Amino acid sequence: MAKKYHQLTVKEALAVLASTSSGLTPIEVNKRLTKFGSNTLNTQKNASLLEKFFNQFKNLMIIILLIAAIIALFAGDLSDAIIIFLVVILNAVFGVFQEAKAENAINALKKMTTTTSRVKRAGKIMIIKSADLVPGDIVLLEAGEIIPADLRLLKTNNLKIEEAALTGESVPVEKSAAVLTASELPLGDRHNLAYMNTNVTYGTAEGVVIAIGMQTEVGKIATMLNKAESATTPLQKNITHLSKLLSILILVIAALVFIIGIALHRSSVLNMLLTSISLAVAAIPEGLPAIVTITLALGTQVMAKKKALIRKLPAVESLGATQIIASDKTGTLTQNKMSVEKIYRNLKLSTVATYSTNLNDPLVQAMVLANDSQQTEQGLSGDPTETALIQFALDQNLNVAKLKQDFSRQASIPFDSERKLMSAVTNIPNSTKKQLFTKGALDELLQRSSKILDNNQVRELTIADKKTILAANRQLATQALRVLAFAYAPFNQPATTDISSQSAERDLIFIGMVGMIDPQRPEVKQAIAEAKSAGIRTLMITGDHRDTATAIAQRLEIIQPADQAGVITGHELDQLPTAELEKQIEQWSVYARVAPEHKVKIVKAWQKKGKIVAMTGDGVNDAPALKTADIGVGMGITGTEVAKNASDIILSDDNFATIIAAVREGRRVFANIQKSLQYLLSANLGEVLTLFLMTMLGWDIFAPAQILWINLVTDTFPAIALGVEKAEADIMKRTPRGSKATFFSDGVMSSILYQGLLEGGLTLGVYWLALTFPFHHSSSLIHADALTMAFATLGLIQLLHAFNSKSLHGTIFTSKLFNNRTFNWSIILASVLMFATILIPAFNDTFKVTGLAWQQWLVVLIGGSLMLVIVELVKLIQRILKK
Ligand code: ADP
Ligand code: MG
Repeated sequence: MAKKYHQLTVKEALAVLASTSSGLTPIEVNKRLTKFGSNTLNTQKNASLLEKFFNQFKNLMIIILLIAAIIALFAGDLSDAIIIFLVVILNAVFGVFQEAKAENAINALKKMTTTTSRVKRAGKIMIIKSADLVPGDIVLLEAGEIIPADLRLLKTNNLKIEEAALTGESVPVEKSAAVLTASELPLGDRHNLAYMNTNVTYGTAEGVVIAIGMQTEVGKIATMLNKAESATTPLQKNITHLSKLLSILILVIAALVFIIGIALHRSSVLNMLLTSISLAVAAIPEGLPAIVTITLALGTQVMAKKKALIRKLPAVESLGATQIIASDKTGTLTQNKMSVEKIYRNLKLSTVATYSTNLNDPLVQAMVLANDSQQTEQGLSGDPTETALIQFALDQNLNVAKLKQDFSRQASIPFDSERKLMSAVTNIPNSTKKQLFTKGALDELLQRSSKILDNNQVRELTIADKKTILAANRQLATQALRVLAFAYAPFNQPATTDISSQSAERDLIFIGMVGMIDPQRPEVKQAIAEAKSAGIRTLMITGDHRDTATAIAQRLEIIQPADQAGVITGHELDQLPTAELEKQIEQWSVYARVAPEHKVKIVKAWQKKGKIVAMTGDGVNDAPALKTADIGVGMGITGTEVAKNASDIILSDDNFATIIAAVREGRRVFANIQKSLQYLLSANLGEVLTLFLMTMLGWDIFAPAQILWINLVTDTFPAIALGVEKAEADIMKRTPRGSKATFFSDGVMSSILYQGLLEGGLTLGVYWLALTFPFHHSSSLIHADALTMAFATLGLIQLLHAFNSKSLHGTIFTSKLFNNRTFNWSIILASVLMFATILIPAFNDTFKVTGLAWQQWLVVLIGGSLMLVIVELVKLIQRILKK
């Protein structure tokens, strides 16, 4: 039997894959792309348009209606049958159209969040879409990345991978490139392989792709793929539940209408059956969940344009309810464009301009050598903290490339946000000795230093020295400068690639510090103020020094100028018992010097207070906090794949202001769903009530065609159009709705009830008026006219009520009355469809209506407009009472 990949040496593996350590050539890549296809995991395919169309008929009421229509056809009632067919088909077409629209929106999102990989091809490092990886590609890995395909590792440096996605084991596994002999090893023990969709938690590595797409180990576990992300939101479930309840209620009423109708009227059984089924079809809000989904999905598109990519639909909903935003400092509140401003060397502070230096300066050596950034043709690439250091050296006209060559790197210990240090071991020119260069947070570095380089003399680091240094650090930090400290030490361990922090980063010789400015983003201060007026509190969470954090927080007005009490450090957090933390959490807005594990604590404490918390994160270690938060916000530019994967939304510009824009969108979407619901459900209530009372009073009843038509025309168009209403001016002045609110909170439920009653009352009122003060004298005309007038009134009421619904509580008589073009057109279209039935004589018979005289139209107009006027008056009174 052929050997498995983990049994092959690096050389053998490359040979089997016909690849080399410098990667495949472009020609070879193209060949393999055609041969192996794209590196994606196939999920279920979407239903075709035709399937979707037929799915619309998988509804019991629709089927019954169609059967009834066929019976009606045979009984000779052509007009009802035609209208029923027409309405059912139109409904299905709209259904398909809406579904497709929602699906497109969601697919577009998926595309925007595609992942990329760093590969080596023909000797060059490049970034490609992970979907374009082919077997034989050389992939470069670093902490925070998600493994894009199955790999045989070629080189590793302190590599640790968390394979929970595959093995369920959440403790990261150490990996190395060494050959394994046993052929039957469990996946988790194949330490020289890395599997698709597992996470690099630490270190760096290179590997060659051995399997892609469905051939990978995850690809083989087909069941895992169909485990779709939770696609329905809590409130969507809420709505689905409610619409089921309403369906039952309406079915009961429809049955009552049928029985009483037969008992009280001379109308035929078939006719009564059609009427009651039409009522059920019209009034059952089966479209409700769809409207919610579409409105949410369309919201994601608007958010994407504003640079907030939604990964999970529920986030749209929770965004609007956000009460707390806990944001990282570096890169989100600030620009993450660092430049060195101050230098501290030989226990003296100087500015960059007055500091002259050369390649022999250990400070410069540490800055350049303990540094992972790279010089590429496009300029410097890497962590902005690190590129700033190289830039400093370049600005001093120093030959950075030569320095790196002379002190060639032997090994490194990567930066991590717990330890807050990064080190590199290098050769020393013309010597067999090696040296360690370390940079990082001052307090961490000082703890590990025992000596100091003072005016080219290495001497003991005294307590007095430490005090002087800490004072200087403070001085830098209070000017909002980010401080990095530097040290070096002789390195005497045998040269292995995996050196540990404990054994190497000790007995350091302190060299000095630099202070870097990281200017705040210009739009952030405004955004924080906007959040405040929207009742949202902004918190700053940072690994940075307390004073730097405080200085920037004060500039951004997260805390008041003299406020020191609003700041707490990770160390202080550790001292507090959890109960105490939860009690006091509201007093702090700035959390400095925190490690990622503190973030989880902080989120939980705020959640204990009943708050809905959004939290940003970028590193691998941020993933737990991102998942714990109600809304995990990942960083599109600086974020690791792991963090992005754990997020609900991703900021494609890393900008805090984008979160606020997304919150605003979330609020708009939520309010619009409420508007649609209020409109739709009060309309349905009005229809049910009218028919029910008509039946009970022994009056004439709307014909099936009329019921279905009103429902189709007035419900479908305006209800959807309300979903794309613009945000109301005060949307960011309201307090967050909180976690307990539903679509029916904030008076929506009571509005549905009274507005539904009003609709029914007005319609029946007009009907009664027409009967009591007949315009004609022939009794058959009196009844036909009255029913037509009631029909027209109900239609008009609903069209005008759509305008009421543009604002739940505010007046609609503003310049915003016609600001939604979709809405305007939908009202125009609905009006034409509604009134053509009466105004165009050719349609009169089909819809069982009569032409009306202008006096009768006047009554309809007054009856219909009263709704608009009364609802606006009620809103006015409510506003006055609230003050
Ligand atoms: P922030 O929340 O501001 O992004 P980080 O957790 O990234 O903070 O960094 C915390 C501290 O670690 C910084 O104040 C700095 O002293 C140090 N640090 C940051 N980046 C590096 C790096 N690449 N190498 C060494 N030290 C670093
Ligand atoms: Mg950072």
